[in-house]
Amino acid sequence: MTEFAARIDKARAAIAASGVDALCLSLGSDLPYLTGYAAMMSERLTMLVLPVDGDAVLVVPELEAPRVDTSHGIFGLRPWGETEDPVAVVDRLLGGADVVAIGEETWSTFLLGLQQRDEHRTWIGAGAMMSGLRVIKSDAEISALRTAAAVADGVQMALRSQQWSGRSERDVSNEIRDRLIRGGHESAKFAIVGSGPNGASPHHEASSRVIQRGDAVVCDIGGHQDGYASDTTRMFVVGEPPSGFDDAFEVLREAQQAAVEHVRPGVTAESVDQAARGVIADAGYGEYFIHRTGHGIGMDTHEHPYIVEGNETVLEPGMAFSIEPGIYLPGEWGMRLEDIVAVTGGGAERLNTTDRSYTVVD
Ligand code: ZN
Ligand code: ZN
Repeated sequence: MTEFAARIDKARAAIAASGVDALCLSLGSDLPYLTGYAAMMSERLTMLVLPVDGDAVLVVPELEAPRVDTSHGIFGLRPWGETEDPVAVVDRLLGGADVVAIGEETWSTFLLGLQQRDEHRTWIGAGAMMSGLRVIKSDAEISALRTAAAVADGVQMALRSQQWSGRSERDVSNEIRDRLIRGGHESAKFAIVGSGPNGASPHHEASSRVIQRGDAVVCDIGGHQDGYASDTTRMFVVGEPPSGFDDAFEVLREAQQAAVEHVRPGVTAESVDQAARGVIADAGYGEYFIHRTGHGIGMDTHEHPYIVEGNETVLEPGMAFSIEPGIYLPGEWGMRLEDIVAVTGGGAERLNTTDRSYTVVD
């Protein structure tokens, strides 16, 4: 709880520094990051109101109030009953606040309602402010990411001894989800199994396609464990690899390695992208690498910093993100290798540690 109290203090300092009078957070990870409480995705409004110089109050539907732990005293609770207007409750709590920062994942209906109640208030997005707090992970957060990564790695390892040919992508995908949950994940958010030509679509949904000998299979899996995300991709080849696959795979491995080795405090996010992209482009596959090299990871699977051209964010110790270059030949096959890395004082720690060779399976 002291960690949450410290985060609320930091959030208050951040809003004070940007001339904001209050911060309002509803859905998404910003709220549990500050309070330990995640709002239910619902038409009933949940909103934390954090004034720059007053006590934080969590406005919640009365029926959700029993789920909120208030023993720590870091925020007060304002349950609203079914016949009350929660927007009016928030408006009153905001009082004379002129400039309010609002969480990016707030339903527009609530923001529009608040704007109607006081037309003189200025609303700004709280996204940059909150990601500024969340982008540098504490040791405890890196440790949580490490634990989640280890569970996902265990699933990738277990897949090596399974039968693949003759099974549908969906069947393998369901096995992956089961294994993530049995490993301790509270959710198995995605289990991409892209076999043969389906692998050329980076975010392919596992389908009824039956995996065949000669298929390369992209296996990108992840979920959440104790509130922190896992995300790792490994490649499987059923029997013999398809034509051209081996040469491209060597390039991909080299690109992923180059990007990981490039990571250290002081370099930009876009330079990590360039480290991977340069290797792939030099080998002639540039047009087949159709996405950014990576994304930050923490409470959300995708968050800042994005490892993409144009992002001049300078890396600092405590940042964590994926490095996941891919090569996708439409109609033929796709390949991607993905590890989560944490920036350390001297470089990068890979949180995913399974062998990055492709695994030949039956
Ligand atoms: Zn992934
Ligand atoms: Zn990813």
